[in-house]
Amino acid sequence: MPTAPKWVNDAMETLASSRMRMVEVVETTYITPQLKKIQLKGDFSKLTFELGHTISFRVNDNDSRHYTVSYGDVKAGVIEFIAHIHGDAVGAKFIDNLKLRDEIKMGLLRGSKQYDPNVKQQLIFGDETSLSLMMDFLPRLQKNLHQFMFYIELDEENKAVPELLGLTNYMVFSKQDVFRSKEKIRELPVFKNGDWQNANIVLTGNINSLQNFRKVFKEHNHKGKLFVKGFWLEGKKGL
Ligand SMILES: Cc1cc2nc3c(=O)[nH]c(=O)nc-3n(C[C@H](O)[C@H](O)[C@H](O)COP(=O)(O)OP(=O)(O)OC[C@H]3O[C@@H](n4cnc5c(N)ncnc54)[C@H](O)[C@@H]3O)c2cc1C
Repeated sequence: MPTAPKWVNDAMETLASSRMRMVEVVETTYITPQLKKIQLKGDFSKLTFELGHTISFRVNDNDSRHYTVSYGDVKAGVIEFIAHIHGDAVGAKFIDNLKLRDEIKMGLLRGSKQYDPNVKQQLIFGDETSLSLMMDFLPRLQKNLHQFMFYIELDEENKAVPELLGLTNYMVFSKQDVFRSKEKIRELPVFKNGDWQNANIVLTGNINSLQNFRKVFKEHNHKGKLFVKGFWLEGKKGL
């Protein structure tokens, strides 16, 4: 629940105490002024990090915000995530203010079944908020020799980030452009080059963009799995 009265949030933390962890900030890196990578140390034993494992932070008494683990090592007790500092909203401010040795409470939610190792072709779509998920996907896609593509909508100032992060097989798109127009989406290589009808498709990030993309997959009677998870919606606080 992104926003709730303080007493509800307190009660939920108590009820879900097995999923709450105190963690320490052990590294922070600004990849760009808008994108911050954070490493946290804690006790993650008895946990398996599934792909796209979601974490949450209570950023004030009333608000919690979700992020995705980009890398997790249970033995070393370390996780990393990349957060988009898109303005001065409560979550973005909380992330921007995190500094070395801060101790914070974190909720460990679940991953989801977005990855099917048996499907040869995989396409992952998203924006700055999806970079953690993409970083989690990348080693699995490479190790299992998938044919894969990352389609990433990014602000101008973040366009070099996929390369800086070591992502491969990606195409970068401007926001407010291709994914705002079904005509333009229909021209993308996934619909024009080769046969991606049975591909595993993972659509994340901005809900308005992914809904347009999803509609074009539906028009094409896509036969593979379509996994859709909106990470934020224009004008809506928290998701
Ligand atoms: C399962 C899940 C996993 C997620 N993983 C990540 C992750 O790994 N990294 C990450 O950065 N985010 C991630 N998000 C998205 C993040 O939780 C949202 O962006 C959230 O809204 C940020 O909270 P806020 O308090 O900063 O902004 P809010 O108070 O929620 O929103 C304030 C305003 O800013 C707008 N807004 C929110 N996010 C953005 C954005 N990214 N760009 C531009 N405008 C925005 C809203 O539409 C609203 O108008 C994830 C979300 C979910 C549901």
